[in-house]
Amino acid sequence: MPKKAIVIGAGVAGLASAIRLAQKGFKVEILEANSYPGGKLHSFTQEGYRFDAGPSLFTMPHFVEELFTLCQKPVEAYFQYSKMEEACRYFYEDGTRLIVHADTEKFAQEVESQLGVPSERVLKYLAHSRQIYETSGKIFLEKSLHKADTWLSTEVLKALLLIPSFDLHRSMHGANSSRLKHPKLIQLFDRFATYNGSSPYQAPGILNVIPHLEHGFGTFFPKGGMHAITRALVQLAEEMGVKIRYQQRVEKILVENGKAIGVELNGEKRFTDVVISNMDVVPTYRKLLPTEKAPERTLRQERSSSALIFYWGIQKELPELGLHNIFFSENYKEEFRQIFEEKTVYADPTVYIHISSKVEKEDAPAGCENWFVMVNVPGNTGQDWSQITQAVREAVLLKLSRILGQDIASLIANESILDPIRIEENTASYQGSLYGAASNNAFAAFLRHPNFSSSIQNLHFCGGSVHPGGGIPLCLLSAKIMVDTLTV
Ligand SMILES: Cc1cc2nc3c(=O)[nH]c(=O)nc-3n(C[C@H](O)[C@H](O)[C@H](O)COP(=O)(O)OP(=O)(O)OC[C@H]3O[C@@H](n4cnc5c(N)ncnc54)[C@H](O)[C@@H]3O)c2cc1C
Repeated sequence: MPKKAIVIGAGVAGLASAIRLAQKGFKVEILEANSYPGGKLHSFTQEGYRFDAGPSLFTMPHFVEELFTLCQKPVEAYFQYSKMEEACRYFYEDGTRLIVHADTEKFAQEVESQLGVPSERVLKYLAHSRQIYETSGKIFLEKSLHKADTWLSTEVLKALLLIPSFDLHRSMHGANSSRLKHPKLIQLFDRFATYNGSSPYQAPGILNVIPHLEHGFGTFFPKGGMHAITRALVQLAEEMGVKIRYQQRVEKILVENGKAIGVELNGEKRFTDVVISNMDVVPTYRKLLPTEKAPERTLRQERSSSALIFYWGIQKELPELGLHNIFFSENYKEEFRQIFEEKTVYADPTVYIHISSKVEKEDAPAGCENWFVMVNVPGNTGQDWSQITQAVREAVLLKLSRILGQDIASLIANESILDPIRIEENTASYQGSLYGAASNNAFAAFLRHPNFSSSIQNLHFCGGSVHPGGGIPLCLLSAKIMVDTLTV
């Protein structure tokens, strides 16, 4: 008889976990609360404009490919993507514009011509970022931090010896200030803290490894949009025999004699050999395991930022914009202070615009564009979101109209909005955070929940709220590490 596994949630990590378990011979069932798969990696259409609802930046596609290779399936038959020649376009309030090219030499030249910073400084910085990844990234991102054998290798010893040079003792901003020196370049690289929902003024300098993911590996775009990742994983999972059941909200994890033995939903008990929660770790303990002892220190960790997103159908094409665009605020430090300390939004925030129709023409009607306009905001702790949304919308329209030199409000054909409350409602992410816990201190990585429960046997975890963290590549890695920690 094959062993049984129940996965709670069909987010990207839940799907990847199910695929890995099925490949190992488990009979796998995913129970998903929504009527659709993918969790945050979801897509919708409004009046002829298609939008990816959540993630827009795709890095490290080899972690998606790895799942197909593992199952001996030709990835190209399920999932295709291309490398982007341009990573992002940056717009500053004083009129400076800068294009980040995938080719690092070309990018360094662009920095030299637009900012007057010698190109060697950028190249040296990127080499430093690469070194952090090559020495420590593989170990700390691809293995459990909670198993002794991770720590007993020569690779780890080497990494530990090098750690003093990885700026663990100072913030990303502190390290960037001394390495890059130019305020606009510092701001550009400080922004990478937002890739895991943290503040560059608090997150440790070792997180300056993140630029390597974009500049070393490159940025990519899936054919059909980001949601193609979800579609491909669902197809692979189903071919591997995984049963995905929608509109099935798990209400309880059943525990007997210190062992997870099943789940309960709609008054019905379902028994299994192993339970994997892809649900955020906070509601997993608070809602599904209310009588079990919870890892309080871990659950009390500061949460990553959330987002306010305006999905706008725009009745015009703007050639000065690319697939990814950033319009920086003038006072980045105050912007992050307000998000993480005041739990509110800076009056003139940094704005990110993603336009998938730049690559996928059919995502918008002819001559139009689909704008995903996002501002980083704090998680929901009871703020008045309708008032904040109105104020942010006005500020964003003023900023974009000012920098782009045209009235943006008059170009909006249709709109929908996503705020932290809706993110939490749609995916059960505590406070609507995008990436689980924030990395605003040097120990955050070690406080993140492991991929298994140390008090309840046969209960495992995957997804953005557990090790190694949020974002598609790390969520995919969480599934890999989870399977490595199985004892059934
Ligand atoms: C606006 C936004 C922008 C982002 N941008 C990027 C980006 O550009 N690049 C990037 O890599 N990452 C990005 N991220 C982060 C990325 O989306 C997440 O880290 C990742 O998708 C999380 O996947 P997950 O597997 O943890 O699960 P989630 O996507 O959180 O899904 C969890 C699933 O569990 C289900 N569930 C919860 N509770 C239950 C229950 N009780 N019973 C049954 N099912 C349940 C939910 O319905 C949901 O489907 C972004 C996120 C957001 C929201």
